[in-house]
Amino acid sequence: MKNPAFPSYAQACGWNAMLPSRSPRAPAEGHLDAPYVVVGAGFTGMAAARKLCQLNPQAEILLLEASTVGEGSSGRNSGFLTREEYPSSNAAQSVAQNNILNGFNRGAFDELQQLIEDHQIDCDFHSSGRIRAAATPEGANNLRKIQHALESTGHACQTLDATEFKKRIGTDYYKFGIYTDTGHLVQPAALIRGLLAALPPQVQVHENSPVIDLSQHGKRWLLKTPSAQITADHVIMATNASVKFFGYLKEKLVTIHTYAGISEPLKPNEMAHLGAMASWGVLPAHRLGTTVRRVGADRILVRSLYAYEQSLSESVVHEALHRRFHNRYPELSHVRLEHVWGGVTGLTLNGSPYAGRLAQGLYASAGCNGSGIVKGTALGTYLAELAHHNKTNPQIQMAYGTPNSILPDPFRALGFKVISAWESRKAGLES
Ligand SMILES: Cc1cc2nc3c(=O)[nH]c(=O)nc-3n(C[C@H](O)[C@H](O)[C@H](O)COP(=O)(O)OP(=O)(O)OC[C@H]3O[C@@H](n4cnc5c(N)ncnc54)[C@H](O)[C@@H]3O)c2cc1C
Repeated sequence: MKNPAFPSYAQACGWNAMLPSRSPRAPAEGHLDAPYVVVGAGFTGMAAARKLCQLNPQAEILLLEASTVGEGSSGRNSGFLTREEYPSSNAAQSVAQNNILNGFNRGAFDELQQLIEDHQIDCDFHSSGRIRAAATPEGANNLRKIQHALESTGHACQTLDATEFKKRIGTDYYKFGIYTDTGHLVQPAALIRGLLAALPPQVQVHENSPVIDLSQHGKRWLLKTPSAQITADHVIMATNASVKFFGYLKEKLVTIHTYAGISEPLKPNEMAHLGAMASWGVLPAHRLGTTVRRVGADRILVRSLYAYEQSLSESVVHEALHRRFHNRYPELSHVRLEHVWGGVTGLTLNGSPYAGRLAQGLYASAGCNGSGIVKGTALGTYLAELAHHNKTNPQIQMAYGTPNSILPDPFRALGFKVISAWESRKAGLES
């Protein structure tokens, strides 16, 4: 039976499977004691561990990962990241909030870029621009609002019609789109592995070490894994939605499963069907829509589907991802998805992540949803600062907002099902 303290997956992460195999670090064993323990070696946990090293050059830092690095959602995602978000409208408040947000996002993005350069992390990190694409009139209306907000705040964007889509990315499935030149792509499993290798030696990393119990004893914390008991002054829970298992943020977070597939390599004559752009990434006009990107020269990735708190069956996922791929590229309907996998992420009702202190000496960040590479890096850094200085930064809340509370179950499950059925219908061909 699956242990709800941490995610486990039926299918291996496709990005990780495309890399050479690696030997995981040894699990935590016996009695350990450290001033700082970070739980979860994703983008948030890595950023927290790095920052703690800068702030406490002498302190030992333990980083515990339930699975192996690259097999968590930080390796399972689609690899879209951006240095700058755009305001959702030209209202003064939206623009001001977006400026604060971009201050943190730029810091996190630049740190990742610097680490990639300094440590020569081979992760296909590159600028690709960003395409938002609509297949339906409703989707096109959504994008026109974004286009208006961009133009009225002085940001350059190009609009795309079906002919232009066909030329650039090889499909005329989409009828309207906007292209902006900020946007990068990365091989996420290669990046997270590289970030692990780049951690200073003062961070002791233990893989296959799920924390299954967490309790407070006076001013200290006791963490239990299957083979270790660890005491700590400060614990940073960088586990995303798994923090709910320990009794925290239950009323703010839901666990969402979403799925991705990467095609087998295309033959040279098939690659011509992916359009003239050497690299591109397409985000949907509707939030329950499908993400598509080129992977290297000869593969394509499709990410789609959302399920609430439990995984979908393998056959449903395979069929749906193949259908979405072949609907967009009927000329490639003989091409199979070689790797198909799912991942979990934490979702809040209003899309704002949580980052803060849960109790004395206990901190968490969760709910970065579909932009955790950059946001997780920013919020992990913040949690390390919070743990070290014991001082909150109100700018973080101004930038990212605060998550609303969600109704308890069974109303929450029912509400999610009704909303997602309604939104899925609205998403229609954007799926
Ligand atoms: C299919 C898919 C596509 C996505 N696409 C994008 C994208 O293109 N761009 C983007 O920015 N984001 C994307 N996301 C979201 C992104 O992956 C997450 O926001 C990001 O991974 C959050 O980082 P994190 O470090 O906070 O959490 P995670 O990456 O979830 O890391 C948490 C880690 O904690 C570990 N853990 C959990 N519980 C325990 C425990 N009890 N003990 C020890 N360890 C534990 C987990 O194994 C995991 O490794 C996508 C997600 C999915 C699933």
